[in-house]
Amino acid sequence: MRYISTRGEAPALGFEDVLLTGLASDGGLYVPESLPHFSLEEIRSWRGLPYSELAFNVMYPFVDDAIPEDAFRRMLDETYDGFVHKAVAPLVQLDTNEWVLELFHGPTLAFKDFALQLLGRLLDYVLEKRNQHAVIMGATSGDTGSAAIEGCRRCEHVDIFILHPHERVSEVQRRQMTTVAGDNIHNIAVKGNFDDCQRMVKASFGDQSFLGGKVRLAAVNSINWARIMAQIVYYFQASLALGGPDRSMAFSVPTGNFGDIFAGYLAKKMGLPISQLVIATNRNDILHRFMSGNRYEQHQLEHTLSPSMDIMVSSNFERLLFDLHGRDGAAVKELLENAARGPVSIEDYRWRHARKLFDSDAVDDRATCQTIRQIYDENEYLLDPHTAIGVKAARTCRRDRSVPMITLGTAHPAKFPDAIAEAGLSVKPQLPAHMADLFEREERYTVLENDLASVQDFMAKHWKHA
Ligand SMILES: *Cc1c(COP(=O)(O)O)cnc(C)c1O
Repeated sequence: MRYISTRGEAPALGFEDVLLTGLASDGGLYVPESLPHFSLEEIRSWRGLPYSELAFNVMYPFVDDAIPEDAFRRMLDETYDGFVHKAVAPLVQLDTNEWVLELFHGPTLAFKDFALQLLGRLLDYVLEKRNQHAVIMGATSGDTGSAAIEGCRRCEHVDIFILHPHERVSEVQRRQMTTVAGDNIHNIAVKGNFDDCQRMVKASFGDQSFLGGKVRLAAVNSINWARIMAQIVYYFQASLALGGPDRSMAFSVPTGNFGDIFAGYLAKKMGLPISQLVIATNRNDILHRFMSGNRYEQHQLEHTLSPSMDIMVSSNFERLLFDLHGRDGAAVKELLENAARGPVSIEDYRWRHARKLFDSDAVDDRATCQTIRQIYDENEYLLDPHTAIGVKAARTCRRDRSVPMITLGTAHPAKFPDAIAEAGLSVKPQLPAHMADLFEREERYTVLENDLASVQDFMAKHWKHA
């Protein structure tokens, strides 16, 4: 499988290089040159397969000659054995033909584990083969950092440095990062805010000389192709569990950077019958505004009860724009360069096509709380605030009650106890048993000044072979 850039100028790469490369050299994102397509008969034959076997069938065409079949199978077995629910991604019913797909049974209780647990293993495999070492650097306001750290804890060829804003992440989130043991794991609390952390990461990627040319920086942010790839699988899994592919499904997806829902769009293109895809955003609603008015425009960042969806631009949306423009990289490049300067629109017929592919809704904090309360009243089932946004959007946008509506449950409610309290519920969401001692575990992190040189100096001294 070859991968090409959405801006049309960077060289095409194979799977291994795409894994190690973040942004393409022309500023674009990598996408597969062509997608595998599965017949209904083939999809039907996957009914009843364990999650990791299904994952192999869906993903191997993207990997093919980069990794031998048996090695890839082993990685998938190990990855999904680490989830505490036997079904890996179980469905919970909310109402007649309405479901939540629980994607939070991985080690950090959020859906990002599906991809990052695999990505760590893929990286280690490729680096071992090439006899290379990589240093991962990332900034986090909460969720991604812990999932990335968990994903890399067993890697022998990777050091990971995660920057978080000192005293500005929740205690659960901090502890999920800082209690992971491993001498390749480095947590840095920066005396600044999330933007300061992000700026330092960006500057470090731009000029890597502080590492003395001995090692390369790698990124595991949401534009990494392997993350999207791993998220395609659970659309197939949920559909097969509810009678697919012989009936079509609707999915509602709590969306920030457009990664998770883009995976659903790909599942559909690969042959899975999906009749509706709902983009569910919080008040940071650039995607909903584009879908309803053909205007792509950055607004100020709003802080909401669903922080993992607090974004100003949706980085993976570029991958959809590429398809909407007939895979014309030059057109995408021009559009996004203009979008960096002000609002943009696309040609009307292209926008109409986008509206055929997706419905959308934006849900504010008040409606998020109402939904948490309502679902608890109806079913004694606790939703986390991100999933609540998905459920609310699903109910608003639903078109056909004979089609199962599946909301992706992106996080465990115990990760966001403040939102549950804000919703006026007196129940306290409990951490699952395997995490119950989180508050007793030993933490390891280093507090540094809000200063690029101090952070880079720390990194240069602390990676494994420094
Ligand atoms: C990251 C995240 C999202 C948004 O996912 P995208 O792929 O960025 O759209 C939604 N919910 C939770 C809990 C997340 O951590």
